[in-house]
Amino acid sequence: MRVIRLNGLHLTLDEQEACLTAKAAQALSIPVAGIASLAVIKKALDARRNKPPHFVYAVKISLTDIVALPETLPEGIQLSTLHDEPVIDPSSVGSSGTLSGRPPVVVIGSGPAGLFAAYTLAVKGISVLLLERGRPIEKRVEDVRIFWEKSVLDPQSNVLFGEGGAGTFSDGKLTSRSKNPYSLWVKKILVAMGAQESILADAKPHIGTDSLRQVIIHLRKKLIEMGCAIQFEAQVTDFIIRQDKIAAVVVNDQQEIKADDVILAIGQSADDTYGKLDERGVKMEAKPFAMGLRVEHPQALINSIQYGRWSNHPHLPPAEYFVTATTGGLNRSVYTFCMCPGGQVIGCSALPGFVMTNGMSNSERSGEFANSAVVVNVRVEDFTLEGEPLSGLAFRSHWEREAFLAGGGNYCAPAERLSGFIEQKSSGVVGRTSFLPGVKAAELKEVLPNFVSDALRVGIKQFDKKMPGFISEEAHVIGVETRTSSPVRICRGVDGQSENVRGLYPCGEGAGYAGGIISSALDGIKAAENVIAAINGCQ
Ligand SMILES: Cc1cc2nc3c(=O)[nH]c(=O)nc-3n(C[C@H](O)[C@H](O)[C@H](O)COP(=O)(O)OP(=O)(O)OC[C@H]3O[C@@H](n4cnc5c(N)ncnc54)[C@H](O)[C@@H]3O)c2cc1C
Repeated sequence: MRVIRLNGLHLTLDEQEACLTAKAAQALSIPVAGIASLAVIKKALDARRNKPPHFVYAVKISLTDIVALPETLPEGIQLSTLHDEPVIDPSSVGSSGTLSGRPPVVVIGSGPAGLFAAYTLAVKGISVLLLERGRPIEKRVEDVRIFWEKSVLDPQSNVLFGEGGAGTFSDGKLTSRSKNPYSLWVKKILVAMGAQESILADAKPHIGTDSLRQVIIHLRKKLIEMGCAIQFEAQVTDFIIRQDKIAAVVVNDQQEIKADDVILAIGQSADDTYGKLDERGVKMEAKPFAMGLRVEHPQALINSIQYGRWSNHPHLPPAEYFVTATTGGLNRSVYTFCMCPGGQVIGCSALPGFVMTNGMSNSERSGEFANSAVVVNVRVEDFTLEGEPLSGLAFRSHWEREAFLAGGGNYCAPAERLSGFIEQKSSGVVGRTSFLPGVKAAELKEVLPNFVSDALRVGIKQFDKKMPGFISEEAHVIGVETRTSSPVRICRGVDGQSENVRGLYPCGEGAGYAGGIISSALDGIKAAENVIAAINGCQ
């Protein structure tokens, strides 16, 4: 049996995947019986303007032995030798290391970085203690519901803190530019934990918050089954460092836990933990990030901009977009980020007295609205005070506080019609938005640094040229969007350890080396491998 990969097969919106075998046979000029089996490797939507949208496939085909292939193929179709993307499992790489005489590896934080660090250690048979300041997902969902419905915030259990980390209430987009060999392994684990199989083939995979919450529950059960100890409502409040080496962590200001190896996967929103690390002399530095607003349109409007006359076709998914702009003399880039088709804009405060926005959707992406962050790059020199690594945290807190006050001081967010923001003529009224817990009409330039609002106005006008109708009376901006990436880096060496504290492994988004669910998970795996290498004396 010969196995090949065929790229570039097209299906119209009305054709079923069952047609792929006939299409492949036609492209290869062979009878259908010459194809023993066919499996989809990649699926993407081509919705470029002025052409009927269609799906483009790469497929793996097993040919019966008798088949001879043609020398030339139809235009756009390529045949390639099949290089199955290998599923590399970290447990198959390197030796396991022994912990005899060593305390369990402490992993702080149960976001994607912490969960996959713990998983990697656990599959290698290494004992792990996972500490999470927030609550398990079942209770966390309830805490978040109360926040969105009643504006009552729990500072320890919210959209940013708790089991699953910051992406739990998200669109669950799994895109990553990384060519890391473990990417497929991460997705396979997510599928094994209940995520939809389509994430393995989709060009732009996403899980949706509804599915992700279940996946995380299964992942927790699996970790416990593999011997990992998990403590919730266990905030690491201090780090005990002796002779430039981690010696213990303190939980909830009470319990001291001895530790030789600590994986620090705290995300980018634990300002108090960053503060404690700074107090204990852990080397950190300020880093650039981006901030701006969330823009929200009716999904039907985005569909008609992106799909034109095909916009009502029932087989098209809710349309997405990604747009960028340059701002000439202002010397800033403006871009959309974390677009959520059929989603919802959500308040994700973690500390009392601050408001920030983000986006979320269910796996069906069936909501009425489409939202996206629209952000401007922020340079270190925009906020840093000489020698103060945490000044970016103070900078973003300042604007989140302004948003809280402009929203009325009850976690509602300030909002404005996009046209009013662009023309700097606020109408003082807003239409319907999806934002939870609610919005209050305000002038959004008041909750942004001038350089950000100026650049947004210039950039969004360019978006409207690329996507005519983007600046619509039906579109709103809601503020502020600050959690694009961390404004702090916890400096680490090539061995993954803190530059000045041995045994401390900063990783994930909060360490400043990753951003997004997949890249944070991959960075967590790398941290676990670095711990194993150090245990084995390889560094
Ligand atoms: C609403 C929202 C939507 C998003 N949508 C997407 C998306 O669709 N796709 C995507 O790729 N990315 C998305 N992101 C970004 C993504 O969630 C993050 O990049 C990712 O979660 C970072 O993973 P992490 O493990 O590094 O940190 P986090 O996920 O932030 O996890 C850190 C964990 O550490 C815990 N913690 C912090 N301090 C302590 C302490 N002192 N002691 C104990 N525990 C502590 C926190 O409670 C938290 O659970 C979204 C983020 C948000 C907020």
